[in-house]
Amino acid sequence: MPDGPLSGVVIAFDIDNTLLDPTGEGYRRTVTDTLAQIDLGLSPAQAFAAFEESRANGDALERLGFANPIHDRAHPDGLAALCLTTCANRSFVTELRIGTDESEPAAALLSELAELHRRTRGGPVDSRLAAEIELRGRLREDGVARLRNVIQRLAAHAKVAAWSEAYREAAKRQPVPDHRPLFERLEQRGATPIVITEGRTTIQRAKVERLGLTDILEGRVLITETVAHVPGRAELDHRIRSMIDKYGGDAHTNDQLLSLWTYRCLMNEWSRKTPAFYATCLHAIQCHMNRPEAALADSLYLLAENWLPLRFVMIGDRYDSDVEPLIDLLGRDTGMTVRLQAGKYGHRHPLDDLPVDRRPRKTFTEWDALAQFLTDELSMEQVVPITSPPEIVPRLEVFEDPVALDRQGGPQDVRRFMRAIATIPRPSQGD
Ligand SMILES: [Mg+2]
Repeated sequence: MPDGPLSGVVIAFDIDNTLLDPTGEGYRRTVTDTLAQIDLGLSPAQAFAAFEESRANGDALERLGFANPIHDRAHPDGLAALCLTTCANRSFVTELRIGTDESEPAAALLSELAELHRRTRGGPVDSRLAAEIELRGRLREDGVARLRNVIQRLAAHAKVAAWSEAYREAAKRQPVPDHRPLFERLEQRGATPIVITEGRTTIQRAKVERLGLTDILEGRVLITETVAHVPGRAELDHRIRSMIDKYGGDAHTNDQLLSLWTYRCLMNEWSRKTPAFYATCLHAIQCHMNRPEAALADSLYLLAENWLPLRFVMIGDRYDSDVEPLIDLLGRDTGMTVRLQAGKYGHRHPLDDLPVDRRPRKTFTEWDALAQFLTDELSMEQVVPITSPPEIVPRLEVFEDPVALDRQGGPQDVRRFMRAIATIPRPSQGD
């Protein structure tokens, strides 16, 4: 471990609106430039709002089998849905062959499906299951099949593909900050800089590459999708879907299904920046401080043995995903949370609205001041070590042998599974 004033301190950075685009201006310019080309027939402000609203329904698109614009903002699928639901440019509507009576029902249906999906992700586990059963029923309706066909047709249109390319080009034009001097300075001071980010693995890794930090961060990029990727998950999803389809309206009364669904809810806790996700990251860091990714890849249970005091700093722009879950997990005074209160989410959770014991330990409104704090002021004494292992949801294998599952498919798997989930805590009751 290198000597220095930050010896042994792990400093984790969020990516979006922290390392990349801290003011949020790059995103706004990318969207505005692209929408100017698309010309939805709306004012720039209306078009921007429509784009954001369309992204907010991204989970509904994913449930229909399309790319999710929450993760891939430039994908033709998302742009196709945007045009279908909001286009007021009559010449485009004609050119894209969007029926005059298609727009409003499509928008309403996508909102309904998105709301149903939200209900599968929050609240008591049995209510989430009831919402999932209802959603699967809706996905089989004729109206949904028609919606799927229209989006598919629009996404394949040459014009939509060109807009997608225009978005990617506009994104490339946005300036990328050079963080190498900061990261090298932190390493010289003895710290271990890492990244903890939410989203799709390929997309987040591309951002690290764009930042020019791939080599410095090798083995140190922790991504929600990677953490939530548990062997057997696809088989579990398949089993849940077939049980819902088999039992129909009575599915919610099936104990086996509820058990499987409970474990599925636990997995979802790792796919966002929740306390359970951070607990897993901290165990991974404890196992391999310099290469925590290796711990995620190797360990089935990911429980660090012989816990040693760990000094951990988290830096990010969002209170609800970069600060609050860590306060929930560790308390405010253990480790350190540093918020960059700027950019897209800067107006949310103003400091004065938060009780003192729920505030980030440090708040900055400008990146440069935050970076200077890290290089000139931060010392290991300011970071109270985590002295006992955070409570963790064990990362159980869902099924030991997916091939055997297909062959046998019997209740034995479910029994083993139920025994396993009986030993682990239930997920939190809300998002
Ligand atoms: Mg962020």
